[in-house]
Amino acid sequence: MSNSTQQPGRSLPISVSGLTKTYGAHRALDEVSIDIRAGEFLTLLGPSGSGKTTLLMALAGFVPPDRGSIRFGDQEVVTLSPDKRGLGMVFQNYALFPLMSVAENVAYPLKIRGLRKAEIDAKVAAALAMVQLESYGERRIHQLSGGQRQRVALARAIVFEPRIILMDEPLSALDKKLRELMQIELKALHRKLGATMVYVTHDQREALTMSDRIAVLNEGRIVQLDTPEALYRRPRSLFVADFVGESVALRVDAGAAAASFRGAVLKTAGPVPAGTGPHFLILRPELLELLPQGAATDPEVNELAGVARDVIFQGESVLVLVDLGGGQEIGVRLPASRAAQASVPAAGSTLRLGLHREDTLIVPEVGA
Ligand code: ADP
Ligand code: MG
Repeated sequence: MSNSTQQPGRSLPISVSGLTKTYGAHRALDEVSIDIRAGEFLTLLGPSGSGKTTLLMALAGFVPPDRGSIRFGDQEVVTLSPDKRGLGMVFQNYALFPLMSVAENVAYPLKIRGLRKAEIDAKVAAALAMVQLESYGERRIHQLSGGQRQRVALARAIVFEPRIILMDEPLSALDKKLRELMQIELKALHRKLGATMVYVTHDQREALTMSDRIAVLNEGRIVQLDTPEALYRRPRSLFVADFVGESVALRVDAGAAAASFRGAVLKTAGPVPAGTGPHFLILRPELLELLPQGAATDPEVNELAGVARDVIFQGESVLVLVDLGGGQEIGVRLPASRAAQASVPAAGSTLRLGLHREDTLIVPEVGA
């Protein structure tokens, strides 16, 4: 293999430091630093234009950064050409060779590395088995479905046992059902391979489903790096709270000690987080509960009053749109089970909403 300088093992850590890339006056990457652990499934999540592809292309060697360092293990690779980096790669439009068979496509990375035929055949068979296409080796690419093509691209990316795999929105062309199936399969495949995975998506649910950790990008910067659960439960800025999960943000008055909404001090689990700009209360539909009209006040629960404006059956749950007055509307998600049906309010009814102290999330507009 071409990477004789790298240590043996199935994965390598990646260390990016001060990576900057400008296009004219535009900063696509702005001082990006991140340490990715060996064997980790790390997702770059952000809206369109936030710099995800640019960062991935810089890791791959196709985009030369203006400055900064990229290390794979203890090797500085920032000036290495793509073919010297030993990476497996899958992109959005996975560019298979249309005139080659499935097996020939998968064999390609091994051929250019000069492996012998017997060895190539064995590795191709193993890679096709890994993506559950054992019997498809002789097929032509145009005879495959979108999902099968995606699997061929995957097999081609993993066949030479790379220690780092990069994927840029590899599932975005697939329909929802297949995409969700492939998310689970990719995660299982990653576990089997043990390689370090850097995965790009703009789909927050996909990121939550697949990742060990998620780096959220906005305007060329990593604004938060956390596990899926920490990102969801403890976003550090309005941007992350808004981008990950469903929520409504309401302006609050925040001092150093406490935050209040419409004059009532909010009970929270911790202090008001530091940051710049105004502060917001983040309300997620599944964290709000309907309190029985006569119920006593619970010292652990914040209360909001509103009117049910609409009740929407969504299959697995019921979404109640609640008018808080003052032009503010929030959603409350209730279970759709038969047992829970009795507590679904009628449109027009007056509601008492409860939000537990532990679920009362205050974020600054821009995190510290
Ligand atoms: P993402 O993958 O998150 O959608 P990109 O990394 O593709 O974002 O792009 C980040 C920013 O850099 C965008 O504003 C994009 O227009 C700009 N950009 C990317 N590639 C080029 C290029 N080759 N020339 C000029 N601008 C570019
Ligand atoms: Mg992109």
